[in-house]
Amino acid sequence: MKPAFDGSYLQRIPWRADKDGGSFVGQNVAAVLPGDDPTLASEWIVLSAHLDHLGVQGSTVYPGADDNASGCAMLLEVAECFALRGTKPRRTIVFVAFDQEESGLLGSTHFAAHPPMEFRKLRAFLTADMIGRSMADVMHEYVFALGSEQSPELRRLLEQVAPPDGLKVGRVGADFIGTRSDYGPFRDRRIPFLFFSTGTHADYHTPQDTPDRIDADKLHKISQWIYDLTARLTDTDIAPTWAKEGLPPDLDEVRTISLFLSRVLENPVLFALSESQATLVKSTVEKLRRILDRGTYTKAERTTLLWTARLLMATLF
Ligand SMILES: [Zn+2]
Repeated sequence: MKPAFDGSYLQRIPWRADKDGGSFVGQNVAAVLPGDDPTLASEWIVLSAHLDHLGVQGSTVYPGADDNASGCAMLLEVAECFALRGTKPRRTIVFVAFDQEESGLLGSTHFAAHPPMEFRKLRAFLTADMIGRSMADVMHEYVFALGSEQSPELRRLLEQVAPPDGLKVGRVGADFIGTRSDYGPFRDRRIPFLFFSTGTHADYHTPQDTPDRIDADKLHKISQWIYDLTARLTDTDIAPTWAKEGLPPDLDEVRTISLFLSRVLENPVLFALSESQATLVKSTVEKLRRILDRGTYTKAERTTLLWTARLLMATLF
């Protein structure tokens, strides 16, 4: 591994109001594993996770075990796997731990504007944020992958690279959650991206986000799977491309959201739904079952689901 930024592993994030650049709000940490293919080595892939959290506020400590020590553990694990692998990757991999994600994606925004390699040769951006728990404590076997709706090659990659036994992958469009992590600045620049997360839960941004609540076995499986995906991306002849209009709606998204909503209904103790909320969730699940039975999913149905899901997310979690 080599330094990523002019002989340093660290990249300072200047304080915006400081025109002289003398003071900074944080530092990204990155390392480069150069590719060894004569033509592909100038192309690069980013694998990343944010390293910051909420710190200590007053006398309260926010450990941030899931958000985002889990993502950082994956990053180190995958970097080690590549370093120990007998062969170099064909494309170059830049491993980045972003700082200041919690304060508005400052680290990733600065990195995208000041990249260590030629930006137009960045072929894919991968990031993981919260991959050690389960969505609302009901999706234990699942990790979600968002972003493949913008790249046919990434959609195919997710279909082809199976996760380890016991782990399932749910594909969902990133527009269901908006900009929730460091993929934002790269998606905005039309870089094919994948965002991995096991989802939000009751301990999100609380002092209870502690290491004992991390599902280490699941985190290990997710890390293995992300290693496999990254290896394919660095070694394949054809790099991911950006689909301007997006891909046709993905039935796997319906399957994933339908399963989640069914589990919400099955757990009245965890989710105390009001009568109107329960009615909305039930009718949505029925609609999704009809789509799955039919085997086609239209853009109009997706738009309706998107707004329903946003409404439910805003009122339930
Ligand atoms: Zn986070």
